[in-house]
Parts: sequence; structure tokens; C-alpha cells
Amino acid sequence: MPDQRPGAPREKFGFATRAVHAGATPDPTTGARSTPIHQTTAYVFEDADHAASLFNLQTFGYIYSRLTNPTVAVLEERIASLEGGRGTVCTSSGHAAQLLAFFSLMEPGDRFVASRNLYGGSVTQFTHAFKKFGWGVDFVDPSDPKNFEAAIGPNTKAIFCELLANPGGVIVDLEAVADVARKAKIPLMVDNTLATPFLCRPFDWGADIILHSTTKFLSGHGNAMGGAVVESGKFDWFASGKFPSMTEADPAYHGLKFAETFGDFGYTMKTRAVGLRDLGPTMAPLNAYLTISGIETLHLRMAAHVTNAQAVAEFLAGHPKVAWVSYAGLKSSPYHALAKKYLPKGPGSVFTFGVKGGYDAGMKVVETVELFSHLANIGDTRSLIIHPASTTHRQLTEEQRVKSGAGPDVIRLSIGIENVDDLIRDLDTALAAT
Ligand SMILES: *Cc1c(COP(=O)(O)O)cnc(C)c1O
Repeated sequence: MPDQRPGAPREKFGFATRAVHAGATPDPTTGARSTPIHQTTAYVFEDADHAASLFNLQTFGYIYSRLTNPTVAVLEERIASLEGGRGTVCTSSGHAAQLLAFFSLMEPGDRFVASRNLYGGSVTQFTHAFKKFGWGVDFVDPSDPKNFEAAIGPNTKAIFCELLANPGGVIVDLEAVADVARKAKIPLMVDNTLATPFLCRPFDWGADIILHSTTKFLSGHGNAMGGAVVESGKFDWFASGKFPSMTEADPAYHGLKFAETFGDFGYTMKTRAVGLRDLGPTMAPLNAYLTISGIETLHLRMAAHVTNAQAVAEFLAGHPKVAWVSYAGLKSSPYHALAKKYLPKGPGSVFTFGVKGGYDAGMKVVETVELFSHLANIGDTRSLIIHPASTTHRQLTEEQRVKSGAGPDVIRLSIGIENVDDLIRDLDTALAAT
């Protein structure tokens, strides 16, 4: 397995430099400057001793691509560097990252506290699929950090939230929630998909584990699925006695104790050597390659995304056919102050607005736009639009839809990096048609 300890301190170079270079060097055999796509399943051992020590986790190196791959390793190192973390495990999707992140922490019967304002798929995964592993979730309103504290019980093993939540532009007071987690001696896990490390670095505010759907802004071009689990390296697994899978002998690894043997990257090793090995949601080398290429322009793209989003939000807020706009970059947002604190460069580019005329008007807008693509994704260079009530939230009752921020009039936008005047004209034409 590759040693994720960097030779040089991570923060020696600025963000843009690390976005372009971290984890990558010219290929030693060919001189190839772009990271090669190592499209191989397995790696030849030097000799029998080498093979044995690799299997015992005594040597870092490559065995089999379900566990490690040189192209994926470059991406893992790059994401760790951008987040200021100690190690990263990449996965086949954001949902796979969430599964592995909890698999390294939880025993059957354990629970975790989660913000109720999450990506819809995460709510479903936590509520239904995780139940089959014996893991329970307690959802809380994230607007008051005390709600997280009140929901913690003896078997609670983590707190989970999205710093910047989709939809609705909800921002969680990360520093306060990190305090709650620290007092309870449990890790704070933050899904940083919508902000990306360019807009906010949750480790700087006390988070312990960061999750990404790299499918979104990190790959950035809507062409590669992927996920990442990032470890800060600062969480004390021994303090509470609550994490036997980190601190006790692992029967599937001849009694190895991950936190003791690997120290500040023990969680990364556990997630890879047990989670990836036994559950298997590995990132494909081609997807890692596309995501590495995408990240090289992350700082440029995110700056354009937030500038465009602010302009579109301001245009909509002043439009007579728009009932409301929920974007934390607007002074009218209840999250404006938290946005200034945690996301000073801008609160992302995904937000919702309400069109006057309800369900039919919402349908009309998504049918009339030409530049915006009507689809279920976010974080693409292209601007995207969806009417949740007639698509993603169609199966819910009217009441459930309103509660989850998907009422009949709600339209969600993911603002891309096109010319903003063109985006505004497209929306203006669509609104005129309602
Ligand atoms: C898309 C998304 C996920 C799930 O990621 P996939 O790559 O689609 O599995 C999780 N969290 C957030 C915030 C997302 O936007």
C-alpha cells in the first residue's frame, strides 16, 4: 500500500499549486507528465517475501486494484493535500464513501446523529440501507448546534452533517458542532461536496473526517463518478473506548490494531484494508484520471461558479415572477452571516428558488430553458436545472415534499461557468413563459 505520508509539509505550496501538482510526479519509466491511467488489475511481486510482507501490511506497495492503484493513489494524495488531511481513500461514488466511512467506525447497534438537511440520497441511505447493517441514525434540525448534543446517546459514534446543504442553502455552524463532537469524544464527519476545499476546509474548524462525492465539483465536468473519505489524523480513537474496530485486534488481519500500528493514518488504513477489501466499491483508474484532470482547474472553476451564482441569485431575487430565492450569498438569507464566516469566497453555486404559479409554473420553467440542462446532477461546468416536485421527490407525499424543501414551486439550480448574461437571459425567457 502506498505510504500517504508526504515528504514535505503539506502546506508548503499554495492551493492552486497543490490543485495542479499534489501527489503527481512525472512517470519514472516513460517521463509522461500527465498522470498515466494504470489500467491494470494486479502488480507483480518482487519475490515471495515481498508478497508476504505486502499482504501483512508490513510494506507499502500495490497488490490488487480493489485496494490500491497508482492512478487512484495520485488523486487520494491530491485530495488529502487540498483538504489539509492526513490520508484519503477514494471510492466508486459518494455513497460508497459514506458506506466505508461508517463501516470503519460502527458496530451493529451503534447510532449516529445527522443533520436532517442532507442530500436526499444520503437520507435514504442512512434511514433504510444502513438499518441492514444494524446502524441507526437520529436526524436533527442543524440550525441549533445544541440539537446535535441533545440527540447523543451512549451508542452514538459520530456526528454527520453537510457544511453547505443541498437544497436550500442551509449552512451549519461547524465550529459549534465540532465542540459538541469533541466533548462527546466522537468524530465529526462533514460532507464537503458542495463547498469543496476551495471554499471551505472543515478540518480548519474542527472536523475529523471529510466526505466527498467527487462526482460533483471535484471532477467538475459531469463525466466521472467517485467519492472520497479524508482523515484529519487528529482524532484520538483511544480516548472514549468506543471504537473497538480502530483500537482492538482485527481478527481479519492477524490481530493488527489499526490505530496503534498506523497512528494518525490508522482510519485511512482501516477504511482501505478492510472496507475496500471486503465491501469492494473501488474507484476506476479512468475515473481517477478524469477527476485528477478536473481538480487541476478547481480553483478557477469554483471562483467562476460562485461569481455566476451570486449574479443569477440577485437577478432572480429582483424578478416579479419569483416568490423567493434561497441563496446564502443574499443578505435576505438567514444563513448570510454563517456564509461570511465559513465561506468567505462565496456559498457555492447550488441553490433553490420559488416560482410564482406553483407546480405548473415550475414545470414550464424547466421545459422552456435552453442553456440550462434539465437533469439530476450538480457541480458540472454546465448550468443545470431541476423541478424536484415532478422528479426527484415525485414519490413523496405533498407534505413530505414541502418539509424536505421540495414544495410544488421549488426549482433547484446548479450554476455553471458559462457567460452569466446568457444564463440570466435563458431564465428570463423561461420565467416570461409561465
Ligand atoms: C451527489 C451527492 C452525494 C452522493 O454522491 P454520489 O457520487 O452520487 O454517490 C452525497 N452528498 C452530496 C452532498 C451530494 O451532492
